[in-house]
Amino acid sequence: MLDEMGVRLWFPQPHSLRESTRSLPGPPSEREEANAPATSAAAIAIRSEVAQMDWATLRAAVATCTACKLCQGRTNTVFGVGNERAHWMIVGEAPGEQEDLQGEPFVGKAGQLLDNMLRAIGLTREPGPAERQVFIANTLKCRPPRNRNPEPDELAQCEPFLARQVALVQPKIILAMGRFAVQSLLRSEEPVGRLRGRVHRYRGVPLIVTYHPAYLLRNLEDKAKAWDDLCLALDVAGKSGAR
Ligand code: URA
Repeated sequence: MLDEMGVRLWFPQPHSLRESTRSLPGPPSEREEANAPATSAAAIAIRSEVAQMDWATLRAAVATCTACKLCQGRTNTVFGVGNERAHWMIVGEAPGEQEDLQGEPFVGKAGQLLDNMLRAIGLTREPGPAERQVFIANTLKCRPPRNRNPEPDELAQCEPFLARQVALVQPKIILAMGRFAVQSLLRSEEPVGRLRGRVHRYRGVPLIVTYHPAYLLRNLEDKAKAWDDLCLALDVAGKSGAR
């Protein structure tokens, strides 16, 4: 399995795994709710409209969205792929060039690493049962120009789509990859390195933070930590009824 991810040197740390899964946090706290971004009346209206959508309506809304400036440069929107009742939901950052051209998330080099990481823990994006086939989504559905970082207003405009995807899939676990997934789902500015290694919650769903595959391609030494994160996620997924 380590081979699949390209991890050559790693020593298991069962103790730290036990420590980090000792207690799962409870449902979203009042503090979590209070930390929700300030929203205008228009934003609240859009959010509540999106929150009622079924899959087909949501897909159409994403495909025709003009809520932020990213719509001007896109070739395709990238809605997400996978099992609509997947036990595992993977959340990345934003489409890159290839994703924009093909309309599918994670099809470039980072996507190959993601596929290997998933394969290492028995998961896939290919058609399969809900326990095995994941659902992959991004925080942004349109490519930022020249692959620049997502901007706060873009994340805010796109967040209701991601929230609705989570509500429709009802995953048993979410893997948040990279800091923008963290910013969007946990509304935290803390670095990934400080948030990984423990269980968070998004609307009651256990959420594990890990490094983004594109980051891992540039920082090979952190692949072992990503493997730890996958092991933690597997452990938590088992406890929450996924495979
Ligand atoms: N990186 C992401 O976060 N998502 C993609 O779809 C591609 C690269």
